Amino acid sequence: MSDSEVAVKPTRIAFPRDRKISFSNGELISYDPATLEENGRVKVSSEEEVRAAVERARQAFPLWSGLSLQERIKTLKRLSNFIYDDLEGIAALISRECGKPKVEAVTSEILPVLNMVAVYTSQAEKWLRPEKPSFFWLAWLLGKSAKVIYKPFGAVGVITPWNYPFYYDFGPALMALIAGNTVILKPSEYTPLVGEKTQELIAKLDLPPGTFQVIQGAGDVGQYLIRAGLDKIAFTGSPKTARAVLATAAESLTPVVMELGGKDAAIVLEDAPLETTAAGIAWGGLTSAGQVCASVERVYVSEKIAPAFISRLVENVQGLRLGRGLDPEVDIGPLTNERQLEIVKAHLHEAVGRGAQVLTGGKPKDQGFFFEPTVLIGVDHSMRLMQEETFGPTLPIVPVKDEEEAIRLANDSRFGLTASVWSLNRERAQRVAERLRAGAVTINDHTVSAGLPNMPWGGVGESGFGRIHGWQGMREMVYSSVIVGERFPRWKRLWWYPYNQKSYDFFRGLLIFLTPKPLWAKIRTLPHILRNLDLRRLT
Ligand code: NDP
Repeated sequence: MSDSEVAVKPTRIAFPRDRKISFSNGELISYDPATLEENGRVKVSSEEEVRAAVERARQAFPLWSGLSLQERIKTLKRLSNFIYDDLEGIAALISRECGKPKVEAVTSEILPVLNMVAVYTSQAEKWLRPEKPSFFWLAWLLGKSAKVIYKPFGAVGVITPWNYPFYYDFGPALMALIAGNTVILKPSEYTPLVGEKTQELIAKLDLPPGTFQVIQGAGDVGQYLIRAGLDKIAFTGSPKTARAVLATAAESLTPVVMELGGKDAAIVLEDAPLETTAAGIAWGGLTSAGQVCASVERVYVSEKIAPAFISRLVENVQGLRLGRGLDPEVDIGPLTNERQLEIVKAHLHEAVGRGAQVLTGGKPKDQGFFFEPTVLIGVDHSMRLMQEETFGPTLPIVPVKDEEEAIRLANDSRFGLTASVWSLNRERAQRVAERLRAGAVTINDHTVSAGLPNMPWGGVGESGFGRIHGWQGMREMVYSSVIVGERFPRWKRLWWYPYNQKSYDFFRGLLIFLTPKPLWAKIRTLPHILRNLDLRRLT
């Protein structure tokens, strides 16, 4: 396809999805991005209602956190059955609201949530078990014993995106609930019905009233939530919104865990198996129409295999079927909203204007928010397509001289969510993986670490901070509290009042044992320490 054939000039398509129509008479309207038909409506929460929800969450906190961890686990385990029993309805709803194929709704939303329930409920006791510190002679000498316990924060606000609504509405919320927090969820304005479904499923657990609540609306409702006085915020979304969330959270010093965007690199080494790698990268870049925080958005391929790899990738992409996600014979659905479609078009428009060549795809469809899966070459790091998150079905490819150049280019990004290395040489792939600046690197696959709830998930740089999943994610939902005990409770302490020269000299002498000075020097100080040890001070 020549450049002139590529219809990438940003244009507004006429459809009923602008804000004025999405919000009507205090209602939020959900549309199917494939057909632009209405899916349903929800009531938008007012500021008063958000404040009342946070107040209810505060009142429910003592009751919910007062249950034992085992009781909370037992209660939440039942969720799996309710999800499983409603599987068809949930998959269809995700597909209708996000546009993604029903298979993806099952493999990358419902299955991971069931997996989360299984892993969190089986691991939480281990992850939240009180810890004893390792032995330290000074603490022992001074009669101290200590342990760390983990306590829930209180009311946790969970703000989520639209690209994996079921996964993200449940993920951080489940961790927060197991740990003993109460939760107020604000789903994206583009996927309010999945948010309602989350509420409906959790309601079946009969949690104390106010333990889990859903509020609905756009960014302003997110702001009401943060201002309403939360104890912790779990935010998943774009770096731009993250800044607004952080700015408001800063006013009340509310702690935040941030799961943000990505610009994932895939490095294809010259010994990568061509067929598998082309199929894997097509999937890694195009699943969910590329609307994945950990989507392949840049491909660096060894120039030795670049022509063969590119032709296989193009062939693979051309074989993919675009259509409504509800149709089981469809591989790629539409983008979820117009805003995303415009970003994809703008990135491609700029890249093509600066010399990029589209090998396949490159055009929107007339109906819905469909955009053809697109493979490009002739791209470089000065382009938005290579710097900013595109979040669409684009696969820009850069041939590289060697491994060093691939690593340098992959690390040349503000983002650092995940990456992948493709090679049959395990040691080499491992070595390259360890040099990539990313929260996770997958070998010969992409994105999948998001489906491993026993491993930490999160990024560096503009991809965010803090983690969900794994013990690291569970610990985001609690604060540590150190309990220090005393082995000699009837004795006074040597460091209490009154101070005098003797106590000063005693402690001054003791300090030598905290230095790397030679043993003989420490032993020589012992008589001085013992001379100044005034045991009468203890009684
Ligand atoms: P946004 O940042 O636009 O929105 C995220 C959430 O924040 C939505 O619920 C949104 O509401 C809400 N919001 C918007 N403005 C504000 C505000 N001023 N204050 C408080 N809340 C606000 O992200 P998207 O929904 O567009 O999701 C896509 C982004 O999420 C991408 O960058 C993607 O990479 C990232 N993401 C990261 C993941 C990770 O694990 N690292 C996983 C999935 C996505 P509304 O939608 O109603 O505007």
